[in-house]
Amino acid sequence: MKIFNGEKRQIYIVLPENSSPCLKYAAQELTFFIKKCLNVSLKTVTDGKDFTGAFFSLGNTRILKESGYSPDLSVLNSDGFYIKTTGDNCYILAETDRGILFGVYEIAERFLGVRFICAETTVFPNMEKLYIEDREICEKPVFRLRGYIEYDLYEDDNNMVNQADKVFALRMRARHSFLFPSDKFGGGSKIWGRHNTHNFHYYVDEKIYNNPSDKSNYHPEFFFCSSSDENAHFQFTVAGDSDTTICLTNGITDDGKLDESMDISVAKIVIKEMKKDIISHPDIDYFVFDQEDGNLCCQCERCRKASEKYKRSGILIRFINVVAGELQKWADRELNGRKINLVTFAYAYTLDAPVICEAGNLHPIDKTIIPIENVIIRIAVLSDGFYDYFSEKQLDRTKNALKQWSILGCRFFVWAYDVFFDRYLLYMPSNHTIGDNVRGFKKFGCEYLMIEGAPNANNIWQCKLRAYLYHKAMWNENADIEKLTDEFLTHYFGETALPYMRAFIREYYDFYAALEKKKAVCLTFGMKNKEDFDKEFLIKTRNIIINAKKMNAKTGTDKYLCELYDKRLSQVEVNSLFPLVEHYSYFFPDKTKEDYIEYAKEFLSLCRYAGITRYAETLKLSDWEKANFVFPY
Ligand SMILES: [Zn+2]
Repeated sequence: MKIFNGEKRQIYIVLPENSSPCLKYAAQELTFFIKKCLNVSLKTVTDGKDFTGAFFSLGNTRILKESGYSPDLSVLNSDGFYIKTTGDNCYILAETDRGILFGVYEIAERFLGVRFICAETTVFPNMEKLYIEDREICEKPVFRLRGYIEYDLYEDDNNMVNQADKVFALRMRARHSFLFPSDKFGGGSKIWGRHNTHNFHYYVDEKIYNNPSDKSNYHPEFFFCSSSDENAHFQFTVAGDSDTTICLTNGITDDGKLDESMDISVAKIVIKEMKKDIISHPDIDYFVFDQEDGNLCCQCERCRKASEKYKRSGILIRFINVVAGELQKWADRELNGRKINLVTFAYAYTLDAPVICEAGNLHPIDKTIIPIENVIIRIAVLSDGFYDYFSEKQLDRTKNALKQWSILGCRFFVWAYDVFFDRYLLYMPSNHTIGDNVRGFKKFGCEYLMIEGAPNANNIWQCKLRAYLYHKAMWNENADIEKLTDEFLTHYFGETALPYMRAFIREYYDFYAALEKKKAVCLTFGMKNKEDFDKEFLIKTRNIIINAKKMNAKTGTDKYLCELYDKRLSQVEVNSLFPLVEHYSYFFPDKTKEDYIEYAKEFLSLCRYAGITRYAETLKLSDWEKANFVFPY
């Protein structure tokens, strides 16, 4: 297929009759890209209309049927697609309309050279001609659901966060549980739970079952209570609310079945409540039911005794297996066999897998703790970001959890982390782990890989970079990370800055590699030890960026881009400046408090200029300023 810049021949996009909003949007996107890069206007027609000439066929059109092209769509892992070009025609085919849209993005990226760098930057090359030789392309995601969570790729319905750039998220081919695209954008991610996550307590309502003034429903034993006083309910924080969690042995027999002898129990209430959700959400494939944040779990005598035998993770799986089994039996009977998948966390107190080690071999504790077919374990593990998750040098707790859970041979989601949550502004050298992480999680059997960067803070450049890299790797586990890094750096910071940014990244990698040789360095949270830093290193790496800014100002010809790159380079400069501010008196022992205030103000104004508002997951720069630049830790 050939299209020449500005050519007058009419080229068509053919859509099936009654096509969905998403298919129409795919046609709109393709028209936009071709116009932008080739200055050619495509015309969209519906199947059945007469036309002659070159065309792109999207989805199940009549001309597709006539062509006899009918590849196997079942291998596409939900969002994949086929692109087949023959002569002057191109067919895009997928299992879902979202897959067709992703096929359009493949054409844009592969053949037009369009690059979706970040929400604000898309690169459109000016092309003389588009040439696609006769061929068939089949692309599918490594993971059925996937995404790197950063500011522009994050929505949270429950907390009214809707900053995501949905157009960009789709162009990154993301599909995850913190995005809620409309039908036009291919619909939601088919994963849902009350309040999204950490939601046990939304299924067993304390207002109903833990209200002493209503004796008919009063069941304090359903909730986590302290052992010394059965009426004193332990309070802890769940997503900002103070709340309790539930007892997971209540309603489950000792041999791991639903206790039918109890008229009312935690298990029966959860089953009843989940049925309501399943009926009211006919499009959802995966229902999330998982523990609250933190390490607190039921301390009733039965739970404590059961935990000695099954561990907390075993108690959880025995409970979930009962609920999931009952729900599937019900769905088979009453919902025409609709498939109900239940997702639950292996996290905090349930991260330790229900397995035992005998003579060097790992075994499941017994068969009741093996997740049944429609249960998915969402394993959430912090890692030392300098190593991939499967490295021998990875933290023992993380490495062991992955090893131990994997022997259960069940279905997995993975919630991984990729930033210093208590030091957003420190640079974390983890780009080199991306390929191994993605390949490792694929081998692990992961259906949904979610990597959490800094969702609540904008202009954290390293998260934008790694979002770019991860999304590419989540579609091709052997993606060339180094080449993609250069591509991102070139378009995000400008070509002039590329060698400086390469040097900055290399310096940080070498610095941590050298530090690692001396001692174990955990890059899970920010480096707290000021002694681990080197003042000269921080000044040197800051200067690399200052020089990049100077060169950018000197060589830039486009005023808008020159300013944009300068601001973005400031996002990098603060990475090296932040530790100097945080540990000011250590690095500058001769300076006064007034000197510090001045230095802190300079740092703050650089952050503001760069568009940075937060320096940690829970800490805002404006609060730090109000506290007269005293850090709250
Ligand atoms: Zn209990």
